[in-house]
Amino acid sequence: MKKEEWFTPDYYPEFSCKADKCRHTCCSTWRIPVSKKEYQKLITMECSEDLNRRVQSAFVIPETVNDDVYRYVSFNWLGQCPIQEKGLCSLHAEKGEGYLPKACKLYPRSLKKVGVHNVASCSSSCERIIEMLYERKDLHIISIEMEAENELFYEIGEEEGEQILLFQELIKDHTTSLCQSISDICKIINEKEFSKDYHEDIDPLPEGLKLLKRFIGQNNLFGQIAMEVYERYEKEKELYEKDKEGFEKRYPDWMPFFERMINNSMIYECFPFVDKRADRTSVYKGLCLTYGLLRLVCIGYCSLHNKKEDLIDATAALFHLIEHTAFYYNAPLICDNAAVFLKL
Ligand code: SF4
Repeated sequence: MKKEEWFTPDYYPEFSCKADKCRHTCCSTWRIPVSKKEYQKLITMECSEDLNRRVQSAFVIPETVNDDVYRYVSFNWLGQCPIQEKGLCSLHAEKGEGYLPKACKLYPRSLKKVGVHNVASCSSSCERIIEMLYERKDLHIISIEMEAENELFYEIGEEEGEQILLFQELIKDHTTSLCQSISDICKIINEKEFSKDYHEDIDPLPEGLKLLKRFIGQNNLFGQIAMEVYERYEKEKELYEKDKEGFEKRYPDWMPFFERMINNSMIYECFPFVDKRADRTSVYKGLCLTYGLLRLVCIGYCSLHNKKEDLIDATAALFHLIEHTAFYYNAPLICDNAAVFLKL
């Protein structure tokens, strides 16, 4: 394979997995797809008795089977991949990287061909990525030379490519608030619907709680976080204003941090050309929900948990939901007034 030019966020070359130091390893409660070829290689490989036992019980059949999604990695009683132990992958340790399913090998990276450009990005669902975004002041796109193969293709034209870059520039505009930058983007996508939705006389907090309630009980970290935040405000809504002040005082740089996380997610999702099923005119709703949920979850969770790690964990868990489900596709279906989330 020859080296090619790739566009990446500037932290990309520095990223390295925390492995057993990770508090919430990506192997937890994530439906990792395994192709037919990968599955057959794994179940027939020569290996130790212990690894063979783990591998034989590590897969479940998806609802719809095809050659690319032939099996999912199952979970043990702790909600973790049965092949890993104490945060370390036994398959990687014994057989090397060549045996890992593609999703495990790549995560949190994503390698896409967007129009004529190669774009390498990382998911904000990885706690190390969130830590890196927290530690830096800016997020820029750089060009690097590397040998890699694209896993996804986004067929977009020159004009659409320009729109992706314009939105990333708008989100980084420090002369306006993040909320204003998001409103400007939403207006470019669908001014009529956004403005109507934004000016509805609706209290955003009950809307946010209604949405959080949908995620409670999910067998993942975000389900637990959603429950704690929901329970805090469900009975005492007035606590939210006080918590808001406390959060902004404790994290005075919350806004540029949120900006970097949202920008990183836009790069990863190829916003606004996210989910191929999503309606381009309503895709702005996912962006409003992302901002509102970030505010609600961080403000609520950090009023109950005071370490910086808690902020990192809550945001990574939220982006796990946003970037590994059909979030943008579902946004208009699960919430009627997404734009009011900008008022949270
Ligand atoms: S979430 Fe990130 S840091 Fe943690 S194990 Fe996965 S890739 Fe490594």
